Amino acid sequence: MKSIINPKREDWSVLLQRPTQKVENLEDTVNQVFDDVKRNGDKAISKYTQLFDGVILDSNIVTRTSFEKALKEISTELKIAINRAKDNIEKFHLTQKTEKVEVETTQGVICWQEKRPIEKIGLYIPGGTAPLFSTVLMLAIPAKIAGCKEIILCTPPNKEGNIANEILYTAELCGITKIFKVGGIQAIAGLTFGTETIPKVYKIFGPGNQFVTVAKQLATKFGVAIDMPAGPSELLVVADDSANASYVASDLLSQAEHGSDSQVILVSTSKDLIEEVQMEITKQIKELPRKDMAEKAISNSKFIYLESDEDAMDLINDYAPEHFIICTKNEDFYLDNIINAGSVFIGNYTPESAGDYASGTNHTLPTNGFSKSYSGVNLDSFNKSITFQKISKEGLINIGNTIELMAEAEGLQAHKNAVSIRLKDILPGEVGI
Ligand code: NAD
Repeated sequence: MKSIINPKREDWSVLLQRPTQKVENLEDTVNQVFDDVKRNGDKAISKYTQLFDGVILDSNIVTRTSFEKALKEISTELKIAINRAKDNIEKFHLTQKTEKVEVETTQGVICWQEKRPIEKIGLYIPGGTAPLFSTVLMLAIPAKIAGCKEIILCTPPNKEGNIANEILYTAELCGITKIFKVGGIQAIAGLTFGTETIPKVYKIFGPGNQFVTVAKQLATKFGVAIDMPAGPSELLVVADDSANASYVASDLLSQAEHGSDSQVILVSTSKDLIEEVQMEITKQIKELPRKDMAEKAISNSKFIYLESDEDAMDLINDYAPEHFIICTKNEDFYLDNIINAGSVFIGNYTPESAGDYASGTNHTLPTNGFSKSYSGVNLDSFNKSITFQKISKEGLINIGNTIELMAEAEGLQAHKNAVSIRLKDILPGEVGI
């Protein structure tokens, strides 16, 4: 764990590089799997499930018995916790509902916009190294609030060919029962093209490893929308002397344990705090069951000392973290000036895990610098906005000439005619309006 003291601005982009594999290296595999699934459907899916997940399945459909087993086997305490998280996530996403917006732009010209749900969607729930049942809540709850009709869930089977009870319980609690035991590239390809068992969808949601992320990007070439490129997790903490070093270390480790390709960064205006956090990490990491994975991620982590809050802020906006924790005396400075971040956590008592599970905000967030241009998943991710307009005779008289002039100037005579033909009827005798 090396500290970097006052790095020069020109070195920031190299310093802040993500430890992700280059997309070109994965594209060949992703293209091959897509091509095979497109041609051979479920047969190809089974082949890749065997190759990448090491399991041969009789069927990739989750049966009723599995849901019933999950309901029986999950402890009451965990059920209560999941239900509580569900309540909070529901509350927060319900507040994101918007009313129809309407305006009369010119007398007689009424325009409005309304939301409609995307009818068929696919949810990808990562299950490779940990069954992320919390992601079921994060995707299924807003999908249901938005009113999506057909919701398909794909998640990889474990070595025994099963899906974790927690995923099944949470999915059923959210009203989702069409679940397929398929993960990685083959799941995204199945949702893109449809197979004998897996329905084709219009939009795919959910985080995943780099294979899933690259596959989602390829899906867009076949006309399927995606929520965003949500790849390996990242966390950037800005902290000063007012922060509690052991809390900061615990937050950094909470992201590091996601995977060896996760990235965690501490930016501080205090060299003492950086040292204390590093000592705390060494202490806390020993106790973690996913120590090996966390150690790899920590070896990619950066501990950056910068003299001023202004420099720290510029570096943070440049990096555009997925998760951003602020533990500083002058938190308002960072709150007012953050431009690029997926989700922000403020103060010593707001661990990032709160947003991962239960506070109510969504944890499916843009990584790899995409928070410069993408939002995290929210209610609008499951909706489309449709615009409507109704123009009266009076309205057409009022804007008709504007349209005619502009259409003529663009050389689009038929566009002009569509107005002129009506105006001639409305105002017979008035030529050349
Ligand atoms: P995963 O479900 O994303 O991936 C597992 C699948 O990867 C397997 O089913 C297999 O099909 C495929 N795979 C594995 N090795 C392969 C290979 N060599 N070639 C082709 N395919 C291969 O689960 P995971 O691996 O545990 O990854 C979960 C990821 O999701 C982590 O990177 C985590 O950081 C990320 N995550 C991100 C967010 C976010 O909001 N950005 C939230 C939660 C999790």
